[in-house]
Amino acid sequence: MTGDAAPVSPDPSGTDASSTGEESANLALWLTRQATERPDAAAIRQGEVTLSFAALNDASARAAALLAEHGVRPGDHVSLIMPNVAYFPIVYYGILRLGAVVVPTNPLLKSGEISYIWQDSGCRVAVVFAMFAPDAALAAKDTGTDVITVVPGEFDALLAEQQPLAEVTAREEQDTAVILYTSGTTGRPKGAELSNHNIGTNVRTSMDELFSGGPDDVLFGGLPLFHSFGQTCTLNSAVYAGSCLALLPKFDPAAALQVVQDEKVTIFYGVPTMYVALLQFADKERFDTSTLRLAVSGGASLPVEVLHGIEEAFDLRLLEGYGLSETSPVATFNRPDRPTKPGTVGLPIPGVEAKIVGPDDHDVPVGEIGEIVIRGDNIMKGYLNNAAATAEALRGGWFHSGDLGTLDEDGYITIVDRVKDMIVRNGYNVYPREVEELLYTHPAVAEAAVVGVPDASHGEEIAALITLKEGTEVSADELRDWTAERIAAYKYPRIVKFGTIPKGPTGKILKREIKIN
Ligand code: AMP
Repeated sequence: MTGDAAPVSPDPSGTDASSTGEESANLALWLTRQATERPDAAAIRQGEVTLSFAALNDASARAAALLAEHGVRPGDHVSLIMPNVAYFPIVYYGILRLGAVVVPTNPLLKSGEISYIWQDSGCRVAVVFAMFAPDAALAAKDTGTDVITVVPGEFDALLAEQQPLAEVTAREEQDTAVILYTSGTTGRPKGAELSNHNIGTNVRTSMDELFSGGPDDVLFGGLPLFHSFGQTCTLNSAVYAGSCLALLPKFDPAAALQVVQDEKVTIFYGVPTMYVALLQFADKERFDTSTLRLAVSGGASLPVEVLHGIEEAFDLRLLEGYGLSETSPVATFNRPDRPTKPGTVGLPIPGVEAKIVGPDDHDVPVGEIGEIVIRGDNIMKGYLNNAAATAEALRGGWFHSGDLGTLDEDGYITIVDRVKDMIVRNGYNVYPREVEELLYTHPAVAEAAVVGVPDASHGEEIAALITLKEGTEVSADELRDWTAERIAAYKYPRIVKFGTIPKGPTGKILKREIKIN
């Protein structure tokens, strides 16, 4: 555990943060500000639950007191294992209010993976939603972590017994606020340390300059909050701007559109697989989605076909951005105030620079493929306890993303693929994304994932796993021949299989789990 907290400033009212002084950069101050300025406005909606900003602030002040009772001190690391329910923001801001560091942990991890993260991050206390308690309990046997189990109802009673922690602990801009475990480009998950400044600037830029978000907005909260996209772009953005966050614990197209209709959502945030599911959903016209003014995509490449389909079906603008956990996450974006270029991830956002470099770290010319490197206020401090990985990722003052891309003459970036997803067939580089983009234009294809499989004669062979649209039919041979007619001979998939494409909790396609032989 670290102990890098600034001195605590008293805040006798429990809601007014002014006494903490302007120099504090604790993200929890956004919540206390909203609780003062618009106490009764809805901060969180989830099913039957509504939390006003005052109620969220009060509950998080009680959660902070509970954590203090469990021995958590400023600078300590606290694991949070929770789906998208109202307890997530309560505990998240409770941890921050105390000046501690949130370690959001993917609820789908198994005990061995959890104990690895707890050990690596030194989490002595974890707050765990009841349904994930069995794995957490097993992990705790290894690590001795004190698990606070959140049982709905019972946890509310526990909070009600607490005396709200009347102070927001002052934190420095560079103090770590959140540690996000990510696999990065290689190896075991690493803890990307994000400071108050990293997340704070990313949120401010997103809300003030990209989305013009404010108290009239209702943000769609269907992206997992433990992940950087959901956490920065929905939770922290809503609290910063005084918008309401309409949470959805488990995404499916009908439930998502119901939330949009019921809560009058204005900005929709999703990953491409969510947009594919919405597009395929036959009943989409049944819902009133007229309040939507903007949709945002990130996390994986959005097929241009899907982008246009969504814009047409819901009569809105869909803007694609790009980033990583290590970049807080937004790095580039198709800004609403500039011409958008579908198929690209837009321009670096204000305060961020991005360029493309070759293997020798030198800039490559416009149009040439290289690794995307990024620098700016949003770049993580480093990987926790991993100086070697930090030095490698941040060499030369630029964060090396592990993503291949190109830059056009206007500065727009196109993602070509992950470095590690590139397929080498007969010595030729094949970028799965290019093949997937083509497959998405086939009328029968709902979803496509292209991977390399080991092959004795070619090194690797190109294989496509396809999910067909309901009510359509096409054979594997037909689809293979169709791609062969439209793409260079070394690129088309020789192997075509039909099936379900494995996805992670954020909706990202898990290429490594695709087994084709
Ligand atoms: P994560 O750290 O989980 O947010 O994952 C970051 C990775 O997601 C990046 O390194 C990219 O490979 C991928 N990614 C994010 N946004 C996009 C995008 N718009 N297009 C293609 N890949 C993306």
